[in-house]
Amino acid sequence: MFIVWRKEWINEYESPWSVFEKVSLANHISRTEILKTLGNDEVKKIRNNLFTNNRRELIELRGFDSNILKQYLGEDLSILNKSVISTILKPVKYYQEPIRTWFPQSLYWCPECIKRGYHSWLHQFSLVHSCPIHQIELLSSCPKCLNPIPFLLSDCALNEPFTCKCGFKLADFGSTPWSQWKMKIEIADASVFKWIEQGKRDDSNRFLFTPQVSSIQHFTLEPRVKSKYFFNVKVALRQDYLYRDEFKNDLYNENSRCFKAIDQYIRKKFIKKHLKCILMLQELRKNENEEFPPICPYAYAYVFWKQTLLGREHFYNNLVISRRRPGITVVTELIESIIDDYKTKLFAHTNLSIYDNREMFNWVLNRVTSELCLNYFYEWLKIAVEGAEQISVPNRDKIDIMLQNSIPRAILKHNSDVRHNQRIEIMLPSVARTINLNEFKCPLSTKTMKKLLFKMNTFKPLSVAMRIYENSSDENKRIESYVNQYVAKLRI
Ligand SMILES: [Zn+2]
Ligand SMILES: [Zn+2]
Ligand SMILES: [Zn+2]
Repeated sequence: MFIVWRKEWINEYESPWSVFEKVSLANHISRTEILKTLGNDEVKKIRNNLFTNNRRELIELRGFDSNILKQYLGEDLSILNKSVISTILKPVKYYQEPIRTWFPQSLYWCPECIKRGYHSWLHQFSLVHSCPIHQIELLSSCPKCLNPIPFLLSDCALNEPFTCKCGFKLADFGSTPWSQWKMKIEIADASVFKWIEQGKRDDSNRFLFTPQVSSIQHFTLEPRVKSKYFFNVKVALRQDYLYRDEFKNDLYNENSRCFKAIDQYIRKKFIKKHLKCILMLQELRKNENEEFPPICPYAYAYVFWKQTLLGREHFYNNLVISRRRPGITVVTELIESIIDDYKTKLFAHTNLSIYDNREMFNWVLNRVTSELCLNYFYEWLKIAVEGAEQISVPNRDKIDIMLQNSIPRAILKHNSDVRHNQRIEIMLPSVARTINLNEFKCPLSTKTMKKLLFKMNTFKPLSVAMRIYENSSDENKRIESYVNQYVAKLRI
């Protein structure tokens, strides 16, 4: 078989996705035929053309034969891929994330570049959200039918070359499409340019961040916070020190200290005037023969923030912090796995396992934990007015989303060698916190209500059970069922 192709139609940083679309267009052959023609022996053996995504993937090009690619396209695309991907990932080469974290499974493209048949690895790179050439937002779904397109050599979302199943044309070429295919790639976005330049230098700086919530622009922000210098470096006596009780207790105590500081901050900033409201909610106070009074939105946000963060079962039980139980490494149990993830990264990206720089380790973890806890409180503030009014709490799935929204945006820059006196820099993208506290109406703000509070009795499930134990009257049973219903509405 002969195919129409010129090597120069493969542009800098170009992904195989657009290369194959162009092959398909220039030769009037389907994507399946491309795979069949350029595929390896295994693919060629498959008779019914039912290829799994594993054979259609475009990162390693596992379904293709290197020699045939070179023979037909003048370039071994799998070698080209490797080189481009390694250039892009160089600044984070110490990360042990799965490749899908950096190059997601669905296609991201620039509406302008695609008009010239160009899709770039830089578009597909998860930290890039706007086209480095045109500086316009990337698309990840068809503008007409809103369906995503998989980053695969696949017909499942596409029709003709560069055309969605719904008929929308991502690119519309005239009679000689290839006249436009050779492009000069000029990166206009300074942060992308810096990112690639930085990869060329082999330095010992390390970025600590969560890829899923980060953007390449954040890496070039002026650092907002700089740490002090760290001195107390000792050589760890045993390399397994991080598995030992001494280390775990230290981690727990630091986390506890950190949580208390954030708790104090929130109380001072938001809760100062609502301590009674908190008491009322937590102690389930109300007048005899009356319904529960309305919930104060500040108390609502605070109590449920704290209950869930500490991983407690009931909001009406005491939320004090106790000594570490075996198996537990942090006070803030809800975010244990996120903290753990940062801890693992920090150890993997440095020589912390040999040199015990506890001071630096704690500083970093506390910084991340504080931001996480505070973000999570804002998530509760967002839903507090509605939740308090409707006497309802989010379910576990919703809490998970709130937690995802709370993952720190901060990017910490530190050195891989923790023996060095170093200054940790933090790039902190601004987060829009759109909470209108004017909508927060505290039902207890009137003096009479405050006085009333002390005449109210507590109706915690345990005290109601005691009432029944002492006197199992119908009235007490009715109260019990009312209280149980109320508490069930606020159960997470
Ligand atoms: Zn573009
Ligand atoms: Zn479409
Ligand atoms: Zn209040």
